[in-house]
Parts: sequence; structure tokens; C-alpha cells
Amino acid sequence: MSGQVCQHLKAISTIRAPQRRECAECVKINSRWVHLRTCQECGVTLCCDDSPHRHARKHARDSGHPVIASAETGERWLYCFPDELVAEY
Ligand SMILES: [Zn+2]
Ligand SMILES: [Zn+2]
Ligand SMILES: [Zn+2]
Repeated sequence: MSGQVCQHLKAISTIRAPQRRECAECVKINSRWVHLRTCQECGVTLCCDDSPHRHARKHARDSGHPVIASAETGERWLYCFPDELVAEY
């Protein structure tokens, strides 16, 4: 991993890939999303901060799961919410 790395990012050895290419919460409420992110703690895929509902951020806050990975094809980076750090892999 490149860049500044916190304890949460250091703890990640295998990157969880998205199981489904959709936001698990947006599909329930028939909403739309912009980009997808996958929680590295539990593997749920949710929408990004550019999306109306920002489900990935809500999930991180409510569950305490700190790190997401981009679920977009060709993007290889992780983001830690509590430390606001991005790391490429
Ligand atoms: Zn962190
Ligand atoms: Zn969503
Ligand atoms: Zn999670």
C-alpha cells in the first residue's frame, strides 16, 4: 500500500471484492447511486459520498466498520473513514 497508512488499513490483508454491483440499501428504497464501495469488515456494498444517500458513510458510522474499498472496475484503493486516509493497493 502506498501513502500514509493507519492501523485500520494496516489490518487489511485481503481485499474484499463486491458480491453484487448494486447498493444494498438503495435497492430497498428504489434509489440510485453514483459509485459503489465495499465494506472491508463485513463485505456489504453501498453507495459513495456523491450518491444522494451516502450509504457507505452511514454504514461506517453506525456499524463502526472503518474501511471501504472502491467497488468500481479498475479502481484499486481503500479509504478509512475515521482517519480520512486513502491508500492505493
Ligand atoms: Zn484508520
Ligand atoms: Zn445507497
Ligand atoms: Zn461493514
